[in-house]
Amino acid sequence: MSSSDPSEPLNPDAAAPIRDHLDEVAARTSAAAEASGRTIADVKVLLATKTQPAEKIRVAIEHGFTLIGENKVQELVGKAEELDDLTHEAHLIGPLQKNKVNHTLRHAHCIQSIDNLELARKINNRLGVLDETVDCFVQVNTSREDSKSGIAPEDAEALIVELRDLTRMRLRGLMTIGLPGRTAEEIRPSYTDLRELSQKLIGSGIMPAEANELSMGMSSDFELAIAEGATMVRVGSSVFGARDYS
Ligand SMILES: *Cc1c(COP(=O)(O)O)cnc(C)c1O
Repeated sequence: MSSSDPSEPLNPDAAAPIRDHLDEVAARTSAAAEASGRTIADVKVLLATKTQPAEKIRVAIEHGFTLIGENKVQELVGKAEELDDLTHEAHLIGPLQKNKVNHTLRHAHCIQSIDNLELARKINNRLGVLDETVDCFVQVNTSREDSKSGIAPEDAEALIVELRDLTRMRLRGLMTIGLPGRTAEEIRPSYTDLRELSQKLIGSGIMPAEANELSMGMSSDFELAIAEGATMVRVGSSVFGARDYS
């Protein structure tokens, strides 16, 4: 049971700042895209909605921001039902355990956290049973430091070669997560590396030319990520405010 009635709209005082923040993010995205010779049409804004209640996400979707990303399968599944009546697209942007693949495929349009072949095969097999397809990104750990998720840059090529046989998974590009708590300039090399890896893999014919998306950049650094070629930024706190993990 949800603690609040999903049909009950968010208090207007709480909804207005969300709309204002969204407009601000759109303006900044547009300016950053133009500064790098592109337009806002070239850069999608995905809302990172972890810990946010469905009523707040509803305000954002109704304001025209129809891409949402959840980190946990449980949240993805729970909110999917509450947002059922709204046209939107849900992405999984957090790690996926193999035993949660079935739940994920029921609700996710795209899985951005593909980082190993065993997981990819499991997803592809399940999609075969369902006779469905799913969009995906390969998550690369370009931060050069220990991290639980993302494949090492030097191993990405081998995984992408294998993905070509998993025909129910539509590879859209590469994704990376900048390390938390670093300055934008400290994070920048990991975005440069993701772009260069993508260019190399497409240039050598290993990755299909249409898999040219780059999902990178968060609230604290999304303009810099756009300068480095991001085609999708993932913003949370700059829209919804600080997260409440209590
Ligand atoms: C939370 C999160 C974001 C957004 O972070 P903010 O700093 O709140 O904008 C982006 N990507 C991933 C994978 C996240 O978990």
